[in-house]
Amino acid sequence: MKTNHCKTKRCRGITTKSGRSPYCAGCRYRRWRDKFPLHASFHALKQRAHERGKDFTLTREQYIEFAVKTNYAKMKGKTSMSLTIDRIDNNQGYHVWNIRCITLSENSRKLFTTMPDWMKDEIRALEAVYIPESHRNLSTASA
Ligand SMILES: [Zn+2]
Repeated sequence: MKTNHCKTKRCRGITTKSGRSPYCAGCRYRRWRDKFPLHASFHALKQRAHERGKDFTLTREQYIEFAVKTNYAKMKGKTSMSLTIDRIDNNQGYHVWNIRCITLSENSRKLFTTMPDWMKDEIRALEAVYIPESHRNLSTASA
């Protein structure tokens, strides 16, 4: 049996044994992801939900409809204005009635509202170079 090299320039992968595709497995996956980004992100979301033990009844069709309707499809990414999928009820999994789109900054604000006060104080202190009452003695003691 001969070994065929992947058709992608500079890729050193080899094609699958059946030889039906001119690309290696990695390149085939990347090409699929580029062509069907929403299918790929749906798959990734489902995978993450599974790893974290969350229920997942959302279908790919529901996900795509949601993504298009909320502009998530165009806006997803890593900046603070990018949209991210949020579960409305954190105790419930990924169901069509339990997901909404919020920006990443809203997501961190939501986290901020659920954290204990001492943690908020410490975060504010970091931002304002302000040391909360309870820590003043600690920091002056070491100075
Ligand atoms: Zn390749």
